[in-house]
Amino acid sequence: MSFFNKLTQERCPICKEPLTTDKSNTLFSHVIKSCPKDHYEKEFIPALEGYVEHYNVVPK
Ligand SMILES: [Zn+2]
Repeated sequence: MSFFNKLTQERCPICKEPLTTDKSNTLFSHVIKSCPKDHYEKEFIPALEGYVEHYNVVPK
């Protein structure tokens, strides 16, 4: 997993924390990178071969 993590190391545009992939479902090649503080979420959609971004996943 370390190789994968290096490739996908990105940071939250709001708080600059490294995004985590805890919500990813590798079974479906469904990768969700999210801020540990829930500011931001970036979801890879294999069918679209692209990312969908979500800001302020949990508005405060
Ligand atoms: Zn954040």
